[in-house]
Amino acid sequence: MNTIDHAQALAYMDQARQVASRAYCPYSNFSVGCVLVDAQGRTFEGCNVENASYSVTLCAERTAGSQAIAQGSRDWKSIYIVSPTRVSPCGTCRQFLFELAPDLQVYLGDLQADSYIGPTPIRELLPMAMELQQTILPHRKS
Ligand SMILES: [Zn+2]
Repeated sequence: MNTIDHAQALAYMDQARQVASRAYCPYSNFSVGCVLVDAQGRTFEGCNVENASYSVTLCAERTAGSQAIAQGSRDWKSIYIVSPTRVSPCGTCRQFLFELAPDLQVYLGDLQADSYIGPTPIRELLPMAMELQQTILPHRKS
């Protein structure tokens, strides 16, 4: 990664930290923010949104991805995720992201340090991912 890309990555991490500060996480107090970047350079922000019915909780990655879809973006290139402990995306989010962006590059940062881990291809985070083509039965292929 060249210096300009590194500086851009740090800027996206700063943006993700701002998003994390808006997370709704009264149960875990574990705020996560992310910035999803598409091929046109458009950015889509996401934060975790918890709920008293725990299974309703949404992760930051899926809130960002859902915004991107709603705004017509499906060619995602990278995602910058910050959390208190630099956690990587959960299994559900890995599958969610992989579906539309099998070549997505994942960057992980925390809420304080001006550094990050990555890029890591989503494929490496989700070996043998379930793919759309695998779910189409032979008689339904055209
Ligand atoms: Zn998740």
